[in-house]
Amino acid sequence: GSTIGILGGGQLGRMLAVAAAQLGYQTRILAPDEEAVAAQTASSYIRADYHSHIVLDEFAAAADVVTYEFENIALAPVSYLAGKVPVHPAPAALGIAQDRAIEKAFVAEIGGRTAPWAKVETRDALAAAVAAIGTPAILKTLRMGYDGKGQVRITAPDQIDAAWDAIGQRPAILEGFVTFSHEFSILLVRRADGQMVSYPPPWNQHEDGILATSTLPAPGEIAAQWGEAAALAGRIADRLDYVGVLACEFFAGADGPVFNEMAPRVHNSGHWTIEGAVCSQFENHIRAICGLPLGDTALTAPTVAMENLIGDDADRWAEILAEPGAHLHLYGKGASRPGRKMGHVTRLGR
Ligand code: ATP
Ligand code: MG
Ligand code: MG
Repeated sequence: GSTIGILGGGQLGRMLAVAAAQLGYQTRILAPDEEAVAAQTASSYIRADYHSHIVLDEFAAAADVVTYEFENIALAPVSYLAGKVPVHPAPAALGIAQDRAIEKAFVAEIGGRTAPWAKVETRDALAAAVAAIGTPAILKTLRMGYDGKGQVRITAPDQIDAAWDAIGQRPAILEGFVTFSHEFSILLVRRADGQMVSYPPPWNQHEDGILATSTLPAPGEIAAQWGEAAALAGRIADRLDYVGVLACEFFAGADGPVFNEMAPRVHNSGHWTIEGAVCSQFENHIRAICGLPLGDTALTAPTVAMENLIGDDADRWAEILAEPGAHLHLYGKGASRPGRKMGHVTRLGR
């Protein structure tokens, strides 16, 4: 069989490797992680950083196609690999998603609605941006943020100095605070020939900047904005000649969907698709990058709800296992820490 190379060793890589195995593929994980939970489900694991050309050459030679499971990987090794073996999604998508200013400018250029924003590289620029955008606002590091890390809210101008210090005085963007009724995401899958499917949008609820639950079917406020949001996600994918799963996060605002950010990969708000959709996001990503026909994205039950298990939840596992219609997923991480995603549970309802 063919071999799929996966960059990154977290739970997304783990679930991709399971889906790939089901379709008869070998998987080879490359990650520097001390605890690569994806290694437990992959055919092989190379523990190395991404910057050795010797390692990358060997990895490319052993893989028929390469993908990645997190967006904060350095762009240079991904581009280097793309010169040797097909890499999906292409590095261009990664480059855009890694820089919040480039990402927002790109989306605005193709007709998407975003929060008002300004790129800030100095304390004075931050003060000017707060004056222009107003408060409340959110200051986010330009690069490398996830799970709400590298973000601080500014509710009054006297917090500018503290906010600038809190994000480590790094290049950032200031975003006006969006008033929204709900958050949701569009998960689409695109093949190299342009064929596209997308999942029904989950209502995503966050706690402390981390995804807590995804619920389907989404309430009416989201359903009313689904078409416009999915059309924008489709334009993003077409423009990038995108191959694989693309996740776009939205706020349901008063005037329509407001684009928040995108992830050029499978996404936590799509974990419900393992049992809650006919073909999961993981299988559809594998299908797309391997050029196979795409699978059905329809729900398998009238209601589907995914709950993340974050931090020390181990005392709840037995209880969840006893629940009819509940599917428990544990990621095999040794130590729990506050804010660490240890697993999730998907509940199918009538
Ligand atoms: P992820 O883990 O999804 O990559 P992240 O660290 O990149 O998260 P964001 O998605 O930018 O962070 O923000 C995290 C959450 O903070 C959002 O889901 C939303 O709840 C809130 N948030 C972010 N930006 C805004 C905004 N401009 N207005 C209102 N709420 C916001
Ligand atoms: Mg993000
Ligand atoms: Mg987000």
